[in-house]
Amino acid sequence: MPVHSGRLEFDTEGDGDAIDLTAGVESVVRSAGVDAGTVTVFVPGSTAAITTMEFEPGGVHDLRAALDGLVPKQGAYEHNRLNHDTNSHAHIRAAIVGPSETIPLHEGKLQLGVWQQIVLVDFDDRPRRRTVVVAVLS
Ligand code: ZN
Repeated sequence: MPVHSGRLEFDTEGDGDAIDLTAGVESVVRSAGVDAGTVTVFVPGSTAAITTMEFEPGGVHDLRAALDGLVPKQGAYEHNRLNHDTNSHAHIRAAIVGPSETIPLHEGKLQLGVWQQIVLVDFDDRPRRRTVVVAVLS
């Protein structure tokens, strides 16, 4: 099974900063020259996540607000206590959303919905430089 890989690099603000990866993923697919297969988009790191969603300001705000409510920044977190760290909420949010998505590829096009983008969300509590790995399997 041939694998064509690409990498996308971003500087994020952290704190739920969301970045639309769709155009970057499409450009890796184009340079792979693959018509059919699957595309896996993965972020290395335990405080960032990959999801798909409608990438517009309201949707991004609501996702961040929902995760703020589900996993508050402040809490009696063992990770913070044991490691003198401050970002246990970021690890938990990243674990819930997950580090990757796999999208089918057909006739050279990602089979996304019209209002569905591939999105990186950085939950860490400080700005980060992120590398996103894109693997095209044909
Ligand atoms: Zn940590």
